[in-house]
Parts: sequence; structure tokens; C-alpha cells
Amino acid sequence: MEVRAKKYLGQHFLTDLGIAERIADTIDGSSENNVLEIGPGMGVLTQFLLKKSIVLKTVEIDTESVTYLKDTFGYALEGKIIEGDFLKLDTDTLFSGDNFAIIGNYPYNISSQIFFKVLEHKDQIPFVSGMIQKEVARRIASKKGNKDYGILSVLLQAFYDIEYKFTVPPGVFAPPPKVDSAVFVMHRNGVKSLPCDEKKFKTVVKTAFNQRRKTLRNSLKTILPDGFDTTSGIFDKRPEQLSVQDFIDLTNTIFS
Ligand code: SAH
Repeated sequence: MEVRAKKYLGQHFLTDLGIAERIADTIDGSSENNVLEIGPGMGVLTQFLLKKSIVLKTVEIDTESVTYLKDTFGYALEGKIIEGDFLKLDTDTLFSGDNFAIIGNYPYNISSQIFFKVLEHKDQIPFVSGMIQKEVARRIASKKGNKDYGILSVLLQAFYDIEYKFTVPPGVFAPPPKVDSAVFVMHRNGVKSLPCDEKKFKTVVKTAFNQRRKTLRNSLKTILPDGFDTTSGIFDKRPEQLSVQDFIDLTNTIFS
């Protein structure tokens, strides 16, 4: 018996095996040894991951899917399924503290939260790939000057090199989602820590983009120190005009 798709769990099962294989092949098996798949569902991606010489674990919140996976894959997935919520998963002990990659055809309703959790554990997660809504894939991969450039782009690109791979239409899922999807790949860059106060950096980025049509002079008013001089030209700009480095410099200018 197939799993009945539950909307509240973001369940849209991929039915195109060719696309599943292309997603699995974003893992080449040499740089990523430990791999966590988020939301395996009925295992369309999992079956290709199992062919690779990697240490695979999966985390699936849906009991019905877990039962399906156990019945279908049996021994091949034994000990590799964690039934639970990725957002609550203790990733520190997952691979005995070792680094791990993340892959999935993700639950779209929590894709941003997944990325924020990745950022919290960025030094343990050298690689992330998979499929999400096209709009979110565009956002995380887009560079300054683009209308899709936003909070997630800056915060993620500070620590990851992100590549938009290809677009996937709704028709290859059951049930089809309302939006296009896209496959992305991200690699941890060499940046260990930012040359500024990272908490303040996040505050600056979030505050600026929360009123993205305003100049920084206006949008950052609430966080600027009393009497701060904003005559410098950078404050005439809007957030989408600033690179990651510009935001770092701005943070240092404001809070030095
Ligand atoms: N990868 C499968 C399923 C995609 S649908 C495929 O390509 O067909 C998204 C999957 O994520 C579903 O199986 C859903 O049950 C699961 N899921 C949703 N929220 C989750 C969470 N918080 N943690 C782990 N899995 C989750």
C-alpha cells in the first residue's frame, strides 16, 4: 500500500526516477561519506542513495512512510531510519560527532527552517543538496542586485557556495505541488567565522531586508547607536545592493 499524501507534512512524492537519480548523483561519494536524507517518504531518492558507497541515515516524521520504507526496503534500510522531526533531531551525535552531508527532496513547508538549522551546525555540514521550491532555490542562490536576493541568500552565502542546478515542473510529483521546484547544491566555503560580530551581522541583514525598499539610512534607524552619523554614501543604498562583504563592513562601521 502506497502512502496517502498528507498536505500538512509537505508530502509531494517524486514519481520521475530520472530526476531522483540526478538528485542522488549530486553526491559523488568521495567528498561526502556520511549522508543524512531528510524526508525519504516512499524512498524514491533513497533507492539511488543506497547504491552509493556512503554511510546513509534517513529521518522521516511520518509513521506511515516509515512503515512503508521498512516493508519495502527491509534489510537494506535496517538501522538507517530515524522516525522523527529533522528540526528537533540531535545532529551532534548522529554520526558520532562526525561531519555529514544533507540531501533530500525536502518538505517545502519547512525549507527555510531546514536552512536555518544547517547554519546553526554549519561546521558539521560541508555539503547540502536536493530539491525545494524554485522560488526558495532562486533566493538562496541569487547574488546582489537581484530581486530574489534576501536574508537567506546573505546568511547562507556567507558560509556556503550555492549553485542552482535545474528547474523541475509540478507534473513529476504525486500530488503535484502548486509551484515549480528546483535542484540546488551547496558546498561549505573556507570561512570559519566572519570578521565581525556575527550576531550583529544577522541583525543588520534581517533589519535591512525587513524593509527592503527603504534606504539603509531609514531601515536601520531602530538599530543604529544614538547620534550615529549616516551621511556616508552606503546609507543611500538598499539591502539588495550589498554583497556579503558589504554587510560585514557595514556591521563593523556601525558597531565598532
Ligand atoms: N523524498 C520523498 C518525499 C518528499 S515529500 C520523495 O521525493 O518522494 C517530503 C517528505 O518529508 C515527506 O515524506 C514528509 O513526511 C517528510 N517530512 C515532513 N516534515 C518532516 C520533518 N520535520 N522531518 C522529517 N521529515 C519530514
